[in-house]
Amino acid sequence: MALISNESLERVKQSVDIVEVISAHADLRRQGARWVGLCPFHEERTPSFSVDAQEKLYHCFGCGVGGDTIKFVEEKEGLGFAEAVELLAERYGVELEREREDPRAEAKRQHRRRLGDLLDRTAGFYAAYLWDSAEAAKARDYLGERGLGEEVLRAFAVGYAPSAWDTVLLRGQRAGFSVEELRGVGLAQRGKGGGEYDRFRSRIMFPIRDRRGRTLGFGGRAMRSDQGAKYVNTAETEFFHKSRMLYGIDLAKAAIAKAGRAIVVEGYTDVLALHQAGIEEAVGVMGTAITEEQVASLSGMVDEVVLALDADAAGQEAMLRAQRVAGDRKMRLRVAAMPAGEDPAEMMAAEGGPERFRALLDGAVELTAFQVGLVLDRTDVASPAERDQALAEVAPILAGLGESASRDDLVRRVAERLDLEPAMVMGRVVAAQPLSGGVAAPRGAERRPAAAGARTPAELTSRERRERALLAMCIALPQEGREYLARLGDEHLSPMGARAAAWLREHPEDPASDLPRDDADLAGLIAELVIVAHDEPASHEAMELNYLLLEQRRLEAEIARAGEAGDPERRAALSRDRAALVERIAHTERVGG
Ligand SMILES: [Zn+2]
Repeated sequence: MALISNESLERVKQSVDIVEVISAHADLRRQGARWVGLCPFHEERTPSFSVDAQEKLYHCFGCGVGGDTIKFVEEKEGLGFAEAVELLAERYGVELEREREDPRAEAKRQHRRRLGDLLDRTAGFYAAYLWDSAEAAKARDYLGERGLGEEVLRAFAVGYAPSAWDTVLLRGQRAGFSVEELRGVGLAQRGKGGGEYDRFRSRIMFPIRDRRGRTLGFGGRAMRSDQGAKYVNTAETEFFHKSRMLYGIDLAKAAIAKAGRAIVVEGYTDVLALHQAGIEEAVGVMGTAITEEQVASLSGMVDEVVLALDADAAGQEAMLRAQRVAGDRKMRLRVAAMPAGEDPAEMMAAEGGPERFRALLDGAVELTAFQVGLVLDRTDVASPAERDQALAEVAPILAGLGESASRDDLVRRVAERLDLEPAMVMGRVVAAQPLSGGVAAPRGAERRPAAAGARTPAELTSRERRERALLAMCIALPQEGREYLARLGDEHLSPMGARAAAWLREHPEDPASDLPRDDADLAGLIAELVIVAHDEPASHEAMELNYLLLEQRRLEAEIARAGEAGDPERRAALSRDRAALVERIAHTERVGG
């Protein structure tokens, strides 16, 4: 599969029916020139999701997402760009032409395909070995005792690695793979004496597959007590980056998309047990704390991630970072507290387990509240030293919340439990450095500029609303638009507005026909502007008024700077300019009626 040619990409874009594609995920109805409905990316009661069938763009005025049909499919189906194009091409009967790639890229892809093939074959071998070999009898018994049936074990291709030193090594070589290739995918490793041997031996093998079901690595559970580590995973390879993978995602993705929720558990057998019990939104983090990449990989598919982990052990900092990623992407992160000493697999095997697990899911609490609860629960309130310690621990967690009702609630709870004045607790919180940076970034000031394009309307400043209105009119009235885009400088605009203006200058004809692929915020903003341009009235007078108001903001900033710089003359001159400008604004408003 080489690169998709530009011509066929164009044909796909022309052939798709965006209303039809989106209708699979949202009920749309026609309203004037556009289609509107409840946003499939965020929870809402009144529709703020808008689709422009002609321009083939979508935008949500509630949560700020937006883009073209391909973007929608990428986000909603969790696909990469090329995969989304392929899916749409197939659906709308467009034959994709490929361009010849440069030979190095071609060779690299061939290499990756070979290694993928090696991993898939080996997974197949392990799976067959579990069911067919005498030496795997103990493993079959173990899995059976954990309550895991053959059906779910086969669905996840659970297998067994032979005890011999070189079974996989020899099989691989016989099939034409080199020792380097076997090492490259983490199946073989070199011993101290220089000889090669199988990395996985006498272990129950869990193939770790990507969304599309391709095996990228393995987790192996020891079956003998003398084997050292109980769990061994594939080391990081060019394929396998454990921190980005979620175990079971290939089998869970449909249920996750349907439920709008993912349940994250720790172990392989936890995932299997939950799927077997019909809780198919479960994926596993493979024994470590959840990572930012794992949370990010779920965005677009879910509104909510529920962690059913032993949260005490799972690293607060890691969880808070994960929470920040979730928050940035409009997902909730909640914790379902597992009873001490019981994991989901054990719970599923017990009488009434699935019901108890579902009750835990229903009772899941926000991560921060959960962590504060943990600290309070283990504090002996009779001891002043422990109370002080508890306060020192919760203050940075609460500082991470920023000003909010939930922070105030938690402050009250802490004060009550530790028998302190709420004001005193709040004082400590305000003084504390938030855990893991970032989380506490005050809304606005320290927000990553990258997120600025996806701000909700309520978060926009009046200047941003004004600049967006003006930029949309530049699209609606292209002739005037060119003139205003030339007059607008970066000092009139927010950083995001300046990037959008630069894009419009570079793409004056058809700004949305080729949205930037590597810059989701800009793509979303351009989609929004084009949709607004089609829908809202534009006039020369309105453009002039918006421009003058932006100019007034610019002048005021300059006046303030002159004041700070101790330059009264310049300040006076600028103030006269401002007075003249205010008069022009009043005049324009009268004319504009
Ligand atoms: Zn939305």
